[in-house]
Amino acid sequence: MADLVERFVRDHRLANQEEYGELLESLEKPGTGEYLQAEAVKLRKKYYGDKVYVRGLIEFTNICKNGCYYCGINRENHQVERYRLTAEEILECCKNGWRLGFRTFVLQGGEDPWFTDERLTKLVRLIKKAYPDCALTLSVGERSLDSYRRLRRAGADRYLLRHETAEEAHYRYLHPASMSLGKRKQCLFTLKALGFQTGAGFMVGSPGQTYEQLAQDLLFLKELSPEMVGLGPFIPHQATRFAHEPAGSVELTVKLLSVVRVLLPNVLLPATTALGTLALDGRERGLAAGANVVMPNLSPRRNRKQYTLYDNKLYEGEEAAEGLEALSRRVEALGYHLSMERGDITELE
Ligand code: SAH
Repeated sequence: MADLVERFVRDHRLANQEEYGELLESLEKPGTGEYLQAEAVKLRKKYYGDKVYVRGLIEFTNICKNGCYYCGINRENHQVERYRLTAEEILECCKNGWRLGFRTFVLQGGEDPWFTDERLTKLVRLIKKAYPDCALTLSVGERSLDSYRRLRRAGADRYLLRHETAEEAHYRYLHPASMSLGKRKQCLFTLKALGFQTGAGFMVGSPGQTYEQLAQDLLFLKELSPEMVGLGPFIPHQATRFAHEPAGSVELTVKLLSVVRVLLPNVLLPATTALGTLALDGRERGLAAGANVVMPNLSPRRNRKQYTLYDNKLYEGEEAAEGLEALSRRVEALGYHLSMERGDITELE
């Protein structure tokens, strides 16, 4: 194996963007992907054994003030039927999830201005009071330092905010002028400093993406050192400007999951819904490549179709919380097993 790849496996880092670029190019050579995958599996076993953690995803609002060009629920899309769950409905989702055995709830949504700090902290308190044994993850976009602090004090444990791309020009290409990469990164550093288990991440194959940009993503991930990384293929949505762009590659996504596992050995790494949407066995291939988390959908059935980030998004079968048994069988077939623990990050050795 090439020196550079071996050095990456040994040190869990490379020196600079150029080296990460070289690593990405070498993924095309026969054998490199397999080698990294084997190393990734060793590391996931070292830190998590054969456990695959489960998170109950509650998509609680698809109302969004942002206009991310790739996203199907961006504010310019007037074809989506918008919804916002009430606190009662959200608690009902948690209740169903808790009965099914879930001990982590992920509240994800658009940047919905109705959820002021007041309302959101109140919701966090309600959930943490009703389910003190559960971890609560928020994924509600960019907010102020003060807002993040209040949410943390209210009891939120984790926060997912993908950086989407770590390269300035690419960020510009994917987002309206009102958004900035600097702000996005700042939010992530703030979240970490406040003690959230923090998740960053990006789409693979988003429009305009190059290896140089992916190399910057890896460099940024190492610098931030997040507890979680969300990584899935880009999938076009018919009502966006990127409707006719090709979807990201499942193969590259799977290889990058292995790369991220080697980069951040104890990271919590989901096999995403987007990966499962693009290939029937996508989620399994993700788990076999070093991912150790799955996030079935706990949202009310009637709303699942409305949270359409991209076309053909899965929300039935094993993607749904009700399909837990089927999911469990598929995970067992890979030699892993579903763990219903809270599943916090383990200490790095
Ligand atoms: N508003 C929240 C949640 C966004 S939705 C936030 O800003 O964090 C969660 C993730 O879905 C996004 O971070 C993005 O990476 C992903 N996503 C959005 N549109 C997508 C698409 N067309 N294909 C694949 N993933 C997409």
